[in-house]
Amino acid sequence: MNYNKKSVEDIAVAGKRVLCRCDFNVPTKAGVITSDKRIVAAMPTIEYLVKNGARVILCSHMGKPEPNFEKWVKKQTEKGKAPEELTKENWEKAMAKLTLAPVAKRLSELLGKEVKMASDVVGESAKELAASLQDGDVMLLENTRFEKGETKNDPELSRKLASMADIFVNDAFGTAHRAHATTAGVADYLPAVCGYLVEKEVSIMGKALADPERPFVAILGGAKVSDKLNVINNLLEKVDTLVIGGGMAYTFLAAKGYGIGQSLFDAEKVDYCKEMMAKAEAKGVKLLLPVDTVITDHFPDPIDGEIECCTVDADKIPADKMGMDIGEKTRELYYEAVKAAKTVVWNGPMGVFENPTLAKGTIAVAQALADSSATTIVGGGDSAAACEQLGFADKITHISTGGGASLEFLEGLELPGIACLQDK
Ligand code: AMP
Repeated sequence: MNYNKKSVEDIAVAGKRVLCRCDFNVPTKAGVITSDKRIVAAMPTIEYLVKNGARVILCSHMGKPEPNFEKWVKKQTEKGKAPEELTKENWEKAMAKLTLAPVAKRLSELLGKEVKMASDVVGESAKELAASLQDGDVMLLENTRFEKGETKNDPELSRKLASMADIFVNDAFGTAHRAHATTAGVADYLPAVCGYLVEKEVSIMGKALADPERPFVAILGGAKVSDKLNVINNLLEKVDTLVIGGGMAYTFLAAKGYGIGQSLFDAEKVDYCKEMMAKAEAKGVKLLLPVDTVITDHFPDPIDGEIECCTVDADKIPADKMGMDIGEKTRELYYEAVKAAKTVVWNGPMGVFENPTLAKGTIAVAQALADSSATTIVGGGDSAAACEQLGFADKITHISTGGGASLEFLEGLELPGIACLQDK
């Protein structure tokens, strides 16, 4: 995939109506935004467009509204809701909760000028507002997933969206792995470029994968091997060292013939792990697995009693115990691997980090990245949250805004929301 995409700076925007896809999927409670981080992150692109005289039409999804009443009833029934609750009125209320109106208000505050809110996505309200925009004006469409065609990438919806604008800007990396109407489809009908957020994601991660400074170390954790099959396979083509932690490490240990007790185990993936270990050896890639582990006798929360640690070789993990975090020696080993690196990519926790007693491995990796002078990239989700909670965010080169999208990037997949943009 070509990562060298045109950005807002490579296209004339003055006087043009620019449809800009952002990620305003912010957390809200009773209609109040509880974190405006994603809105703030979109400001550089919006401010650039305003300053350069564009007529800006912002759009985003929020949450997972179900725009089809029958499907909504079916889903709610599956969730065990009583039939008398499944009225059109309640469906409309559930949809209304996912309005982007609070986002328009916050955008107005941040921009210091009114951001007009349309009451629909491609209906009369949106069309009228879009047509009335003057240079430097900004409006926001309603939640794009209120339209059935959005997640289906319906060309009809894309055409309607495109008819309101002259240029499409994608600045939502978090949804770039989805081929939806506002993330990719609309680019079939308009010149399409990226915003600053997407540009940063693509240039940093693209460079790390295509032309990394070496040694290049990737650290993978999280629950299951099966979720990361293609990531492991693709990274083995690129890295000098692959570090494995988290629940997925135990299937690798089992593949080495070690007893893993009650630890997470993906029986169907043992052969795959063997194959990956052989591939690493053939390619001269160092594959690091835990040498010791924290064990418990039940899935924790809370943990009571002493926390135990054991080595993992042979049958050292007792048959009735489960591995919940990497142990102290492994923490040191992984810290050293990061220390030796010039490029580091990290995705997934090293243990059941939600429980503070079992978060030491994840913290150690976050600390290693924070202490490192290498280019350090954290791929969204839990690992990103861990870095932020620990206050390490400004010590990491890049924390991706997209968990799923960054994982697909590491898999070497083409992201539809990026592939659809014009090459430089
Ligand atoms: P993922 O979504 O694949 O990144 O997985 C994240 C989840 O993996 C977190 O909720 C962790 O609690 C869980 N996890 C990490 N290590 C382990 C482990 N050793 N056993 C069970 N779950 C784990």
